Amino acid sequence: MTIPLFDTTTPLAPLRENILIRIGEVVGRGAFILGPEVDAFEREFAEYLGVEHVVGVANGTDAITIALRALGVQPGDEVVVPSFTFYATAEAVVTAGATPVFCDVDYDTRNVTPDTVRPALSSRTKAIVAVDLFGCPAPATELRALGLPILEDAAQAAGASVDGRKAGALGDVATFSFYPSKNLGCFGDGGAIATDDENIAELARALRFHGSRDKKTFDYVGYNSRLDEVQAAILRMLLRHLDEWSDGRRAAAAAYAQAGVGEHVTLPVVPHGAQPAWHLYVVTHPHADALLAELRVREIQSRAYYRTPLHRQPAMAPYVGDGLSLPVTDELARTNLALPMSPVLGADSAERVAAVLAAGA
Ligand SMILES: *Cc1c(COP(=O)(O)O)cnc(C)c1O
Repeated sequence: MTIPLFDTTTPLAPLRENILIRIGEVVGRGAFILGPEVDAFEREFAEYLGVEHVVGVANGTDAITIALRALGVQPGDEVVVPSFTFYATAEAVVTAGATPVFCDVDYDTRNVTPDTVRPALSSRTKAIVAVDLFGCPAPATELRALGLPILEDAAQAAGASVDGRKAGALGDVATFSFYPSKNLGCFGDGGAIATDDENIAELARALRFHGSRDKKTFDYVGYNSRLDEVQAAILRMLLRHLDEWSDGRRAAAAAYAQAGVGEHVTLPVVPHGAQPAWHLYVVTHPHADALLAELRVREIQSRAYYRTPLHRQPAMAPYVGDGLSLPVTDELARTNLALPMSPVLGADSAERVAAVLAAGA
């Protein structure tokens, strides 16, 4: 039996019937955009995260663009972003009109730190994007000491926490993606912005609706970027299971460790006090491609992420200075492989993966 890279169907199976009933209720009500389900989800997700405001938007990429603009980022401003992340993190900076400046990450946690961010700072830096990569929270408290606004890209980290504070409550503003394979995934595209700052929330609300507060006067050139009612109704149901699913992801990581995976490949390091919600369980090995081939033959789905990091992507060439060197990013890009991860990955699967890695490494 194939072990899938993600298992998005098994955890949803017991909820299927009730989800269909809830979708039927939304269809019956006939309100599909910015109605009671979005309002309720925004309240419930804010309460879950422990923040004052959540603003639902159309996807996680728009969430970053709108959050940057709500932070006051303007054309000509620089925004520091890691190169080792999904493309959307930097793309959204360009869409917001700003200039992405790429920085390196820490090898052990794969996240930005004050030390990796510092070389990218200039007098034009307006904000720093800290990605909670693969579901492990970035060190937001340390980053805030740099004195610049922090946008936490928590697209991969719904359900994670640090010292009891949820990922999504760690920066000045945070963004989420509800893409189906994410930790909290809806049945299409969806996203959200989370913040304690009333002004940021208010501006984000206007920007998601064409830059208008009252649908009559248009104060900004904004976006048509709403979370829709059907998705919000589904997310309200799934949110109740997020903590249990995150526990399942951590149990899967523990099962890998128990099965001895760490003897064959290098495991991610969990920062002190962090409870990651492993969206992806990414390990490293000098011969990652050979291991990927071996796993594939044994019907274990695995994948390399970001083999071409963002500072080497064609569209980002205009934003990359001549001498830019990001050695840790290049090393992680070359050596990483993601093992199967889901809330329901059991010890038997972890042992099967470990056996293949033991033979191949
Ligand atoms: C998925 C993802 C995004 C983009 O989210 P979409 O909903 O696909 O637009 C942004 N940043 C990171 C780190 C992601 O993993």
